[in-house]
Amino acid sequence: MAAVQLSGIFKRYGDTQVVHGVDLHIDDGEFVVLVGPSGCGKSTLMRMVAGLEEISGGDLMIGGTRANALAPQERNISMVFQSYALYPHLSVYENIAFGPRIRKESEKDFKPRIEKAAKMLNLGSYLDRLPRALSGGQRQRVAMGRAVVREPSLFLFDEPLSNLDAKLRVQMRTEIKALHQRLKNTIIYVTHDQIEAMTMADRIVVMNAGRIEQVGRPLELYDRPANLFVASFLGSPSMNFAEGEIVQGDLGFALALSDGHVIPLPEAARAYAAPGARVTLGIRPEHIETDTTAHTGVAMEVEVVEPTGAETHLYGQIGGSTWCVTTRQRSKIEPGQRIALGLPAGHLHLFDTESGARLG
Ligand code: ADP
Repeated sequence: MAAVQLSGIFKRYGDTQVVHGVDLHIDDGEFVVLVGPSGCGKSTLMRMVAGLEEISGGDLMIGGTRANALAPQERNISMVFQSYALYPHLSVYENIAFGPRIRKESEKDFKPRIEKAAKMLNLGSYLDRLPRALSGGQRQRVAMGRAVVREPSLFLFDEPLSNLDAKLRVQMRTEIKALHQRLKNTIIYVTHDQIEAMTMADRIVVMNAGRIEQVGRPLELYDRPANLFVASFLGSPSMNFAEGEIVQGDLGFALALSDGHVIPLPEAARAYAAPGARVTLGIRPEHIETDTTAHTGVAMEVEVVEPTGAETHLYGQIGGSTWCVTTRQRSKIEPGQRIALGLPAGHLHLFDTESGARLG
């Protein structure tokens, strides 16, 4: 088991810098998910931890030892990739035994570990099968079996579920989380899928353009995103935004939008936004009330109604942006209808429009 410390890590390819000084501490036994859009540098960061990519600058500590110059096999790490690359002519057992055999371990030593891993991963009755006789999920479990049998101090997962269909992805998410709860190893997991990050992580690291935007527990990030990037990246459907100017008018302290809507702000907002300031308001689709004609007088013409079964998404325009409102009731609302939106003060997020930073 191992804690991991990244201090001022950066990466250059020739003249191009792609990771710009990342500082991150990962506790022993923690499940940390690196998430961000494609190209933000998450795989590069993980490959530097694995030793597959040279570190251009900064310090990498694994289990208290400086690891910058250690070869991959000296880092006591197991990695699970998107493509599970099983040997097609070898049985499940031999696929898992491949690593220990290469390392010249005795079968007496590794056989019990394979049996234990197979039991944990529900592969016990498949040990004699060839990979082609397994489902996609079972193959991915064999790949995990290979990683587990090494008993590493650190697991690295690089988009391991991307090749699986949607239903299997959901199932494997739960299995990987359960595996972590049993093994209690340190895990660094890379994905571009914010739902995977939200559901599996002890802590999420949101990356953008080679930098960390925010680190925190999933619901901390969801409830208090530090900036517009994190606010729009986490959550599906995404948070709604509207730009406006702070005014002190008939409705008290408020945000005036370009379409004439005036949204009252909580009194506390006076502490960080002055009249005249350009502010972006954010609110999550599920926090908007539609069953009220109450406090705000914000009206939206519904353009699209999307039933998903459990909930319904209503789309329309507010302040020049498309907004989504989620309702759990089976509403009879039709496209073309105008509805009143309630925007509860406690669920409003305010951001500085120019810098994107959270206010308050
Ligand atoms: P992610 O995993 O977040 O999708 P990557 O870590 O793969 O992103 O890539 C980060 C950035 O580094 C991208 O802009 C990519 O084009 C660049 N990059 C990755 N590998 C190389 C390389 N070998 N040479 C030059 N640029 C690279």
